[in-house]
Amino acid sequence: MGIFDKFQNLAATRQQLEALGINPFGVQIEKIISPTEGVIHGRPTILAGTNNYLGLTFDPDCIAAARTALEHEGTGTTGSRMANGSYSGHRKLEQEIAGFYGKSDGIVFSTGYQANLGMLSALAGPDDVVLLDADCHASIYDGCRLGGAEIIRFRHNNPEDLAKRMRRLGKRAADALILVEGIYSMLGDRAPLKEIVDVKREFGGYLMIDEAHSLGVLGEKGCGLVEELGLLDDADFIVGTFSKSLGGAGGFCVSSVPELELIRYSSRPYIFTASPSPATIASTRCALHKLEAGTHLRRRLHDNAQRLHDGLSALGYKLGAPPSPVIAVVIDGVAEALQFWNNLLQRGVYVNLMLPPATPDGVSLIRCSLSAAHTTEQIDAVCAAFAELRAQA
Ligand code: PMP
Repeated sequence: MGIFDKFQNLAATRQQLEALGINPFGVQIEKIISPTEGVIHGRPTILAGTNNYLGLTFDPDCIAAARTALEHEGTGTTGSRMANGSYSGHRKLEQEIAGFYGKSDGIVFSTGYQANLGMLSALAGPDDVVLLDADCHASIYDGCRLGGAEIIRFRHNNPEDLAKRMRRLGKRAADALILVEGIYSMLGDRAPLKEIVDVKREFGGYLMIDEAHSLGVLGEKGCGLVEELGLLDDADFIVGTFSKSLGGAGGFCVSSVPELELIRYSSRPYIFTASPSPATIASTRCALHKLEAGTHLRRRLHDNAQRLHDGLSALGYKLGAPPSPVIAVVIDGVAEALQFWNNLLQRGVYVNLMLPPATPDGVSLIRCSLSAAHTTEQIDAVCAAFAELRAQA
């Protein structure tokens, strides 16, 4: 076996796609016109696969904040916070995001991926046990592997299965770490968080929830599912990303456990990487302040999600979950999904193609993500493209 032999299957798949003229995983957006419109293959295209939930990437205040930071603090920090020092914005953002969630402190990581990697690798070592919802994001799995903890998967959104596995752990359950997400990224479904918290109350343990897709989307203040269900105090750790609703890059964990500061200094994905750039921190702080200031973007996002969900349901499409900013359309067959995705692109609609093994239960998905910045006309145009392709699904 040669070192590159493992890539042969991948190479064959790529060749097949190239022969068809389809390249779903290498799309070039030639020009970004707005949070919801770009130019792809020379064609004006509605961007409905971005995670730009609040449409803040072109917000003039966020851009101005980033520009000021760029001019005053430079393009990059050029190193890690532990070795090279923190800039004032890093710490301020940590305090602000912790305050937003009502937790005593927070850690900012360079990406959302690293937030999970950094927290889990430090927290869950070889003597510890982690119970993961089977549909958890790759960064959660990778973080657990890096830490070396024993990983137990429970059935997706199935608190009874979690309870069964906690029961089997006996005394170890009291120190087990349970991991779920607020809104799951593939299907857009929500965790049954109340029931999961009930399991934790019965058996003990700690709960970490990844609100990557629900920050800015759910809850009165926009904290996510924990807030919407009044469970903020039951979440021992809340992780998330700045790269979706806040339109920046970076990740965070907030918690009230006094050991959080020790986790920071034990976390290799925190220690051995450069900290986020000043402009990124500045635009993220500005976006967070906007989120705290009002609910109109969230309302607009939900209206848009409802409109697309209603439209696609009326056309008879099989959808992954009730309305949420992630609307996944189930397509039978990988080849059919590829063709469908390409046909949407040719009609000026960009969405995400999600194929097994990355998807739950091996389904093929056309994943749409909505934005508060989508206009009603854009949502209707997306529906019209789906209507034209109905016969192929
Ligand atoms: N957690 C979840 C649930 C995600 O869906 C993602 C990204 N899709 C991440 C973490 C990683 O976030 P980032 O892209 O900011 O690294």
